Amino acid sequence: MAKKVIALIAHDNKKDEMVAWAARNAQKLSTFELCGTGTTSRRVAEATGLKVRGFLSGPLGGDQQIGAHVAEGAIDAIVFLCDPLTAQPHDPDVRALLRIAVVYDVPIATNISTADCILNNL
Ligand code: PGA
Repeated sequence: MAKKVIALIAHDNKKDEMVAWAARNAQKLSTFELCGTGTTSRRVAEATGLKVRGFLSGPLGGDQQIGAHVAEGAIDAIVFLCDPLTAQPHDPDVRALLRIAVVYDVPIATNISTADCILNNL
């Protein structure tokens, strides 16, 4: 059976949190196929040795690429650690990704507690 796919996205102030979460869960994450926005995927891959397919950086269209994959049924869950305290230049893309995840009923975690719930139940 094909591995389920998890997409990883973290805004700049949340990248350390994402890397720590991925390192903590590296063994479990190795049973999934991983992808993510450019910088997030590189940081996670470097820190954990996991293979993470990198899309473009979020502000350059990476969120939209992931959204397109959600619409195509190619992503099973998203961990999206967004920064609630900083304005993002690509806020419309962020909202579009949240929306498309709702449309296709794809689980999307926006904090660590929810990411843990999803990882333990996929
Ligand atoms: P990045 O994109 O992983 O390339 O930094 C994340 C984002 O800001 O959406």
